[in-house]
Amino acid sequence: MNIQGGQVLDTIILFMGIVILVLFIYSSIISVSEREKKASIKFFIFGIIISITYFIVGFYGVDYYNIVRMILLFIPILVLLIYFLPFRFHRQFQKSIPNGQIDERNIMFSRNELKEGTDKYNKYYLKNPELKEIDISWRTNPGLLSQKASNYNAAAFMASRASFFTVAGLKSKIDGDVSEDKIVFKVDEVTNFLKNWSKKLGAFDIGITELRDYHTYSYRGRKEAYNDKVELKHKYAIALTVEMDIDMVNSGPLAPIVMESAQKYMDSGAIAVQIAAFIRNLGYPALAHIDGNYQVICPLVARDAGLGDIGRMGLLMTPKLGPRVRIAVVTTDLPLLVDETGHDPSMLEFCTNCKKCAINCPSNSISFVDREDINGVKRWQINQETCFDLWTKTGTDCGRCMSVCPYSHPNNTLHNIVRFGIKNSSIFSKVALQLDDVIYGKNPAVKPPLKWMDIEPNN
Ligand code: SF4
Ligand code: SF4
Repeated sequence: MNIQGGQVLDTIILFMGIVILVLFIYSSIISVSEREKKASIKFFIFGIIISITYFIVGFYGVDYYNIVRMILLFIPILVLLIYFLPFRFHRQFQKSIPNGQIDERNIMFSRNELKEGTDKYNKYYLKNPELKEIDISWRTNPGLLSQKASNYNAAAFMASRASFFTVAGLKSKIDGDVSEDKIVFKVDEVTNFLKNWSKKLGAFDIGITELRDYHTYSYRGRKEAYNDKVELKHKYAIALTVEMDIDMVNSGPLAPIVMESAQKYMDSGAIAVQIAAFIRNLGYPALAHIDGNYQVICPLVARDAGLGDIGRMGLLMTPKLGPRVRIAVVTTDLPLLVDETGHDPSMLEFCTNCKKCAINCPSNSISFVDREDINGVKRWQINQETCFDLWTKTGTDCGRCMSVCPYSHPNNTLHNIVRFGIKNSSIFSKVALQLDDVIYGKNPAVKPPLKWMDIEPNN
């Protein structure tokens, strides 16, 4: 290569070194703001080492100068190709459609409400004898928000109780009289109004689907509605998500996680109640589905409303916040535009390769294998009994799976760049998974509660 050509390449190498340094320092600073000290140090060190290599070659040259120069030029080009070229091997990661309804009486929150010696208790275990022994074992544990639980924290547990108390107060507002004076708007305009207003009220995202049979429970399983057959005939379902604070989630399974969950049940519930009331004021029936008062399976509704997919941990995985959301739903007959956005299989693909939640689950409740055919539906199923057993020991709803999930990183430019690559390229998806392990660790540490939360009673 002539001298002039070599100088041009050296200038390009120096420029690449500067770009790499800036990107890594930016990532390091962002990580400090995310309370990710180890990640910040790693970004800083990697940035210095890689960029110095570029600067040395760009300024001074080394032995085998041309080969080294070509390698340094080739690596960033390769990274860009992997990132931008849409290599997608997604075909097997299609959305699965349940072929039946779920009975709410079988979920853990419902079984937790059964009191020994009561008619309900006896009838349930007569019908499901195989569950009796399993349930007896966690019934002897201290219980959710119990003072005897291992992760008891007086302030956080009392705050959580306060949030659950408040959301319980919304129960009387989930339904109501429908105005006799109908107000009719254009479908697209009222849909747009609802979406924007929900976000103004605090929703992170909102989507609309037609209500399908498998969205609803077959029978209800909570409190006074126990044994009621679900006869919900609304045409549409509006699903909304609210963001859970990352600092609170990253403390799971310590007390902040349950405080945050309770708060977000409250926030999502309040928005759903307001939306349902608004729709009834327009002259259409509408019902809010909020904590303890669900007739629908929120993650399935939210998935079909285009808000995400059901991941390995059995929760809704959203593109920008991963599982770090709480969901509420409003069902209604108000004509609305549905979000039939098509299915993005990249999250199911990532989940298939990842397994980080399964590795870190303290009760080994999450499957390590690929999606399986369960009652004719391809999906992952967590062991809800062992998961709940842990909750009743710690007193919190754990959330460790949520906190370690690579999709749970904050919704900022740094992580959204990675999310775009995961969606765009199956090859980058695998690279991103390895990078997440290198930067954040395969077993990220549980973060201590924020300082202001760390208070002890005097008595
Ligand atoms: S941790 Fe990994 S496997 Fe688990 S839900 Fe998140 S992306 Fe999927
Ligand atoms: S909440 Fe905790 S125990 Fe339950 S599946 Fe997630 S990590 Fe496992």
